[in-house]
Formats: sequence, C-alpha cells, structure tokens
Amino acid sequence: MTQGGTNLPRVGGYNQAVVLDAIRTAGQVSRVELAPLTGLTSQTVSNVVRRLLTAGLITESGHAPSNGGKRRTLLSPRADGAYAVGVQLDPDAAVIVVVDLAGTVLGTRRVRLTEPGDPAAVVEKVAAAARRLTAKVQVDPARLLGTGIATPGPIDGPAGEVVLPPNFPGWGRVPLLEMFRAATGMPVAMDNDATVAAIGERWIGGRERAGSFLFIYLGTGIGAGIVLNNTVLHGDSSNAGEFAHMAVAPGGRECHCGGTTCLGPYVSPAAVVADLVERYGRPAAVRLGLEGTPAAVHTDWQRLSRAARRGDAVAEGVVREAGARIGQAARGAVALLDVSRVVLGGEAVRGIEELMCEEIESAVNATAVARAIRPIAVEKSVIGDAVGAVGAASLILHGAYAPGWRMLTER
Ligand SMILES: [Zn+2]
Repeated sequence: MTQGGTNLPRVGGYNQAVVLDAIRTAGQVSRVELAPLTGLTSQTVSNVVRRLLTAGLITESGHAPSNGGKRRTLLSPRADGAYAVGVQLDPDAAVIVVVDLAGTVLGTRRVRLTEPGDPAAVVEKVAAAARRLTAKVQVDPARLLGTGIATPGPIDGPAGEVVLPPNFPGWGRVPLLEMFRAATGMPVAMDNDATVAAIGERWIGGRERAGSFLFIYLGTGIGAGIVLNNTVLHGDSSNAGEFAHMAVAPGGRECHCGGTTCLGPYVSPAAVVADLVERYGRPAAVRLGLEGTPAAVHTDWQRLSRAARRGDAVAEGVVREAGARIGQAARGAVALLDVSRVVLGGEAVRGIEELMCEEIESAVNATAVARAIRPIAVEKSVIGDAVGAVGAASLILHGAYAPGWRMLTER
C-alpha cells in the first residue's frame, strides 16, 4: 500500500477514507491486517473501524480461521452504506446509473438527447431522468450522497466548467457543475470522461486494478485516464490524458485542435465508419447496413462492430487498423509513464474489445526493450461499457470515502 495514513488526530476523515479504501480493496480483512496495509497504528485502526461501523459503511462479516490464537473478526464494506448517481454525457445520449457502495449498479437509464446543442435542456432532461431512476430503485435518500458527471472534455476543473467541447458543437464555456447542482439539489462532482472511467476502474477493480495503469476510453472520441500508484493524474488544467492529440499519424488529417498529426481523427467511430465507406464504397456499406451519415454514426458503429466481431474481413480490417493506431499511441504513453497495464473501455468498444486489445497488445509489446523490462498486460475494463457512468458515481463514493481522489483534487 503506497497511500499510508497518518496518526494525527485532526485528520480523522482522511484516515477513515484510507481504512475504508483498504477494506474495499481487500474485500474482507481483519483489524490486525489493516495496520500494515494503511500504515496506521492498531489503536488508530481500531478507532476508525468503530466509527465506520457506527456510520454503517462497513460490517463484521465472520471470522478468519484460527491459527492457535484468538479468531480474528473480518470486516467488509457494506453495500447499502451509501449510494450515488452517475451520469455519462455523450452528444447522442446520457447514461444514468444508481450505484451502491459495493459498486453494484442498482438501475440504469439511457436518455436520448434530442437537443444536444442546448446545455440547459440537456441538464434539465438528465436531472429529471435521474430523479425518476432514484425513485424507482428506492434507495434511502439520506444515504444518497450526490451526483457524479462524466463529460467529454476539455474541462476547466477548478471552475467546474466544460470548455468548447468538440463533441458538443455549439457549447461555449458551460458551468456544468453548478447547473447540475442547481437542477439536482445535491452535491455534484465532475471530471472528463476518460479520467472518470479510470477512477471507476480503480474503485471497482479492487486488487485487480491496484497500482498503476493507463485507461484508454473510446466513446464518441478517444481519451485516456492515468492512474499512477493508486493516484489519478489530473494535470495542471485537469485535462491529463488528452490521448486524441498524441502525434502518431503523419497522414495530414486535420484535428479539431488545429493539428494535423493527431490520433483522434483516425480512430473515432465516425472516422472508422467514414474510412470503410470511402475505401470500399457503397456496396460494402449497403452490405453491412451502414448509412454513412453523421446522424447515423451510433447505429452504423454498432453494425460495423458486430460485423467485425463475427469476422467480416472488411469490418475487422478497419477496426484492427484503428486498434493498431491506438496501440502506437499507447506504446508512447506506456514508455513515458512506465505502467505495466493498459485497460480498454467505453461504450464504443462493446463487442470489439478482444480485437482492439490484441492490436494494442502487439503494439505495446513490439519492441525488444519493452519485452526485456516487463510484458505489458492489455485488458478490457472490469466494469464494461457503462464504465463512464459507473465511474461518475464513484467520483462521489470514492471522493467521499477513498483517499486518492479527494487528496488529488485538492488544488
Ligand atoms: Zn488534435
């Protein structure tokens, strides 16, 4: 455990977060084991555990087998200790979830955004749907801690604003955090979607995602979230992981950022669909059921992904090509960050996780140097395609109770 606690009495809240995160990560653990895991004294652990039990956030869940001495009581997180709403915003739809403290999704709703150009209309529609969903799943309102928002970037983190997001044409500088706070009447946390997904992956993944990893997020566009030593990297402007602008494609295609060597314009679902139609023409598009219009990108991408998965050579070819390009960018990022795990997730990777992971894996492990140091594991998200929404809920649950997020968002 790299994130130790401190035994000073004034930071009891922080110790509470450290101990709860250690219990969550372990799943089941005794008080005796918690001291070395957290770096706290056994007296402090015992006090913090008592507070967590009283608050209903953990429970005593049995005994460890005796090894001669006294049998140790095991502690587990309590799923019904706290709840949060998570929202993942995309231009065509918002995905809304209600999640408990164990990370279980209690309800999901997908809301089509018919007026994506109007931020006020988007917030109003999403907040109303979230209210209906929380009423339907009947969580204790007193234990509903707030709403987390995963938004396409770029963002102004300290101001809680989204700034000219290319995926929401027409949006200028939008104070999304304050708008959601007013619309929901609850505490709200917000971050860019790829960072949120990485936080969710760390939170839900427990031991499997402890340590460091690069999270590659494919939605309407591509982004990355970076977790180093259990800590999420935000960067100076809260936009760390702008993976779309990695300069790996000297093809000259113009990016919305003004660059001509960026990864993004080659690997977004819209770009891959357009590539297929351009290269193989209308007959291939018709055969695969693709319309090839901007309005049909979502369904076109689903059809293209399904075709790739069942082994259609044309569809599989363009998906693998995109995967290989993503792999080139990942190779650079992995070399820079020295992480030994890459995780792939987001709504747009549904059904093609294996193909994409294969391509990324061969790219990041291609060089002799990489192979000599350590093989890099490439895995799909443990959460699945709702990783953005579940990650958004974890901004609230993880932020309220776990050390990494809160500490690292204090600026
Ligand atoms: Zn760019």
